[in-house]
Amino acid sequence: MKGESLKLKYYGTRGSLPVPGQDTVKYGGNTSCVKITVGATLIILDGGSGLRVLGNELLQSEFGYGQGTAHIFFSHAHWDHINGFPFFSPAYIKGNRFVLYGEHNSSLSLRQILSTQQNHVNFPVRLADMSSSLEFVELNAGEKIQCSDALISCFALNHSVDTFSYCIEVKPSGKIDYVSD
Ligand SMILES: [Zn+2]
Repeated sequence: MKGESLKLKYYGTRGSLPVPGQDTVKYGGNTSCVKITVGATLIILDGGSGLRVLGNELLQSEFGYGQGTAHIFFSHAHWDHINGFPFFSPAYIKGNRFVLYGEHNSSLSLRQILSTQQNHVNFPVRLADMSSSLEFVELNAGEKIQCSDALISCFALNHSVDTFSYCIEVKPSGKIDYVSD
């Protein structure tokens, strides 16, 4: 049986703050963001400052004319994992569709967390004014999501806030575990 190929590219590997400069050229200076492709399915892990770079690349594909779909999984809401979202150009293009996944949290929803980051004091454009379709899915530890050929499972991590690791499995191609903070 031949399955879809599973590919990974890092767009952000740093924690806390972006760190540009000569000392970080090898792995880049952006904060957490990983692109996984499973055939034509696009899965993005975390929305740190690396998401800006990925977004600019995506403008050269169907996302440039509002026909793209991507699944974005957030490990947790610390700044270095969400601060690229306001600069994610494809999210400003009508017709694009993003499904945003994060941990179910009784105090703040994922939508509230991202909206707060873009309140009018902190950023000039509100989340609600981004023109693409944003759909929110809140997950509980142990849940599994099927994205075309990829089965994605989430697991609780020990961190200072509720945090998930994600396992992306594509049979028979392989499996990727994303374990951040
Ligand atoms: Zn963290």
